[in-house]
Amino acid sequence: MISRIQLSKRFISSSIIRLNSHSQPAVVLGKTSEFDSSKYHFNISTSSSINNKDIEDPIQLALNSSEPINNWTKDQIRQIYNTSLYDLIHQAQIQHRKHHNPSEIQLCTLLNIKEGGCSEDCKYCSQSSKNDTGLKASKLLQVDQVMLKARQAAANGSTRFCMGAAWRDMVGRKSNLKRIAEMISTINNELGMETCVTLGMLDSQQAKTLKDAGLTAYNHNIDTSREYYPNIISTRKFDERLQTIQNVNDAGIKVCTGGILGMGETSEDHVSFLYTLSNMPKHPESLPINKLVSIKGTRLDEELSQLPKDSERHLKFDQVLKTIATARLIMPKSIIRLAAGRYTMKEYEQFICFLAGANAIFTGERMLTTMCNGWDEDIEMLKKWGLVPMKSFSN
Ligand code: SF4
Repeated sequence: MISRIQLSKRFISSSIIRLNSHSQPAVVLGKTSEFDSSKYHFNISTSSSINNKDIEDPIQLALNSSEPINNWTKDQIRQIYNTSLYDLIHQAQIQHRKHHNPSEIQLCTLLNIKEGGCSEDCKYCSQSSKNDTGLKASKLLQVDQVMLKARQAAANGSTRFCMGAAWRDMVGRKSNLKRIAEMISTINNELGMETCVTLGMLDSQQAKTLKDAGLTAYNHNIDTSREYYPNIISTRKFDERLQTIQNVNDAGIKVCTGGILGMGETSEDHVSFLYTLSNMPKHPESLPINKLVSIKGTRLDEELSQLPKDSERHLKFDQVLKTIATARLIMPKSIIRLAAGRYTMKEYEQFICFLAGANAIFTGERMLTTMCNGWDEDIEMLKKWGLVPMKSFSN
């Protein structure tokens, strides 16, 4: 086992700072009482002479590994999450620049293709029939209705088109699945956009049907930590979610999975949530981070309103940043997507999320049943900061 000092010397003597075309030299931070800047000056090396087993600092481990790591421990993730925010964002930015073009943000648009009346009891969801939000159930949209919205999204600069249906699963929905497959292939053929759908639980055969239609990604969120999950949903087990994700992966479809922050969980739940995601056999291609939009009439809205004002269970913005930055460090290749609730963030808050490693946004008219920042304001925002929309299929 080599010490950190030896490790630093090893970095220095190798003098190798490998930068890909998007990377920039690490900025040397000033010293604080807790921060040893010498640890980080040369941390971009991926020299094969460095054995991952020798690296004790999990941030160093994340930065020096040339391949994604799928056996993170909760202790390592907790240590990263609890790093001082200033330093954590800096390290996440270094990781981001190693694996992504830092000036690119993916624009995606989400359309609700079948609203309300869902038999699941997700406590936060306006579309659950177990919540009293007054939302009426609708039928699945027709292909031409969807194409109107997809064309509008493409014309406004979105390169990924996502479609959500409020269903528990696809059992007994053969004709609906066929229609959705047609939506996917029509969007592919006519617009060349990436496609993503979220339809609830999926078996292997259904996943294959979607793959054959040309689906890029399937969204199925784990929502929160395994430990906190039973407080939020009782009609679907956490492991059933993981099974759907495996079916999607096995079918050769990219996995989009993430969760919702601000449901009354703690920082330890964020660590555990990231633990599940980062220990998947293959890291999610897309990782949506939603910030709860609490909706009147949902049972969760009622519960959260009972919490004392100073409860640690109210989400703080620094926890959002810590979750994003930690995700960027431990799942370096994933696209981290700011999803629902972005419209509640100030523009500078979104900017810090990008600094922490987020590189995709939902943009358009609606975010399922909640508001969404529109294309014009988003394009304007990106332009202001020197960011550009990511092209389709560039990840
Ligand atoms: S499965 Fe989806 S649509 Fe149904 S209640 Fe849960 S979050 Fe809402």
